[in-house]
Amino acid sequence: MGELRKDYVLDRWVIVASERGARPHQFMHEEKVVAPELDFFAPGNESMTPVELDRVGDDSGWRIRVFNNKFAAARLEGQIELKTDNEFFTYSANYGEHEVIVETPDSLRQLWDFSDSELLEVYEMYNKRIGFVKLMDGIKYVNVFKNHKKDAGTSIVHSHSQLVGLNHVPQFVKDKVEATKKYDGCPYCKIVEIEKKSDRHCFENDDFVAFTPYASRFPFEIWVFPKQHLRLMSELNLKGLSEIMGKILRKLKEIDAAFNYVVHYSPDNEDLHFHIEVLPRLSKWAGFEFSGTIINKQPPEEAAKFYRGEI
Ligand SMILES: [Zn+2]
Repeated sequence: MGELRKDYVLDRWVIVASERGARPHQFMHEEKVVAPELDFFAPGNESMTPVELDRVGDDSGWRIRVFNNKFAAARLEGQIELKTDNEFFTYSANYGEHEVIVETPDSLRQLWDFSDSELLEVYEMYNKRIGFVKLMDGIKYVNVFKNHKKDAGTSIVHSHSQLVGLNHVPQFVKDKVEATKKYDGCPYCKIVEIEKKSDRHCFENDDFVAFTPYASRFPFEIWVFPKQHLRLMSELNLKGLSEIMGKILRKLKEIDAAFNYVVHYSPDNEDLHFHIEVLPRLSKWAGFEFSGTIINKQPPEEAAKFYRGEI
């Protein structure tokens, strides 16, 4: 069992997952390719994972497979409601649903090797699982993200994404919802129009645009927005999304970048413009970053040239 804890005063949440019971040296991990028989995301080892929740494919084989994370940061058990003791100590159980989406049966093939139609199947699965998990008891928001390589926080080489349904809307999403309310209409609709014509513009198709954000935090950071004001993944043309994401991922492959990406969409009864933030992890954050100011050594205007194939 673990606990979800809120900072004394900030709207900042931490899952203290004591069940992992890690000793200090266990926090250091090495990236290693394991032999196929030890890769429990690989076909033939299905019995080594928690029970299967979903798949693309049939009994003769699968292309995508979903199951609960064996080392779940959250589980559907314990106290759902948040409580506050003694004014400063706000907590609940680490209540939630934590799933792994294995994107391919191939131990070595990465998401950036996928064709657009293979990517489409992955994004359709995100959409399907978000729809499912959203309806689970006590779930207020479903995060979907991907970690690629050790510098992005995963030691598992087999390509996968993760989904975590939570009993609260995460601060990052809540902050955006609140910040956008200060504008007359959706600010992202206007930002998309401006960045389409700027030197940060990277890719575009009928439905989506990708640009390096004005105040990029990371070298090669890139954001993807639907051109229309759409709030949810279920409202998107996922084929168009796959085309744009494919272009980005193939550029990241050129520089062999560790990266995270995070899906942002509107919580219930709010009006946030859907987007995906892709965050390459080529530099490490240090004290200055953790004290609130980020140094990015690469102007986003330069990063955009890389995506457009000009450098
Ligand atoms: Zn909008």
